[in-house]
Amino acid sequence: MSTPIFGSLPTPIEPAPRLAEAVGLERLWIKRDDLTGLGGGGNKVRKLQYSCAQALEAGATHLVTTGAAQSNHARLTAAAAARLGLEAVLVLGGEEPPAPQGNLVLDRLAGARVVWSGKSTPQELYGLIAAEERRIRDDGGVPHVIPFGGSSPYSARGYLDCAAELRDQLPDLDRVVVAFGSGGTTAGLVAGLGAERVIGVDVGAVPDPYRTLRELLDGMGVRTEPPHLDRGQVGAGYAHLAPGARAALRLAARTEGLFLDPTYTGRALAGLRACVADGRIRPGDRTVFLHTGGLPGLFAHPDLGALASG
Ligand SMILES: *Cc1c(COP(=O)(O)O)cnc(C)c1O
Repeated sequence: MSTPIFGSLPTPIEPAPRLAEAVGLERLWIKRDDLTGLGGGGNKVRKLQYSCAQALEAGATHLVTTGAAQSNHARLTAAAAARLGLEAVLVLGGEEPPAPQGNLVLDRLAGARVVWSGKSTPQELYGLIAAEERRIRDDGGVPHVIPFGGSSPYSARGYLDCAAELRDQLPDLDRVVVAFGSGGTTAGLVAGLGAERVIGVDVGAVPDPYRTLRELLDGMGVRTEPPHLDRGQVGAGYAHLAPGARAALRLAARTEGLFLDPTYTGRALAGLRACVADGRIRPGDRTVFLHTGGLPGLFAHPDLGALASG
């Protein structure tokens, strides 16, 4: 694909000496993919560059995607649609909340149409998406469906680009730690940096993250061992506040003035700490924490009170 259609790249990489010391590392850098430049930023922007280029090539008038109520991917799809002069339709999990919060406010501001899927099974969800596609076609439009979390073997190229930036910025890096949701981010990094340098921290968004990752890597034509995934940070599940994540949010804020989110980046930093504690990351390893964004979700989290106390 030619020049990016949106996004401010490359993103900066910053040393984080106070956080490094607090987690027991000699060197730690933050790769600021929370600053990708569109719609509040975040990792979904890099993947959407590819998905949206495909959509434009196909003459799409509407982007259709799906996710949880507080999906960062859905918010950034709404922003990308606005930037490109397209319409966005977001099929979101659950029931419409009494008052919009967090990402949902931003979805609406960007003019997206939101369809609530209630307690749909995955099969029923596909039915809802198909119904939206039909409705758009009946009105003379051209829908383009972007998968859950924006992850496909094609869009994961956005993280091959990020891997290339990292190789330029820090040629001798040893480890990159990143939250694993729908898998495209980890898959692209593995394709670009090799499995041994990447640690994905599972947030509990997909039933079998190893399988998801295998399918993405196969689709990209990448033959490699799967990387190590830390599965110790899921806690009570995707939507709940994991104890390690709560501590991680405070630590990043109090050492570096860096705000993380409870669902993804908080878990990822908790996973990094767990890997240092059990020796999977050694104190001298040149380690990068990939900040993938997600801050708007903080302001809709059910445990906001616990996060703000003490
Ligand atoms: C979606 C998301 C991730 C995970 O990225 P995947 O490519 O879905 O694995 C990480 N952090 C944030 C903030 C996200 O929104």
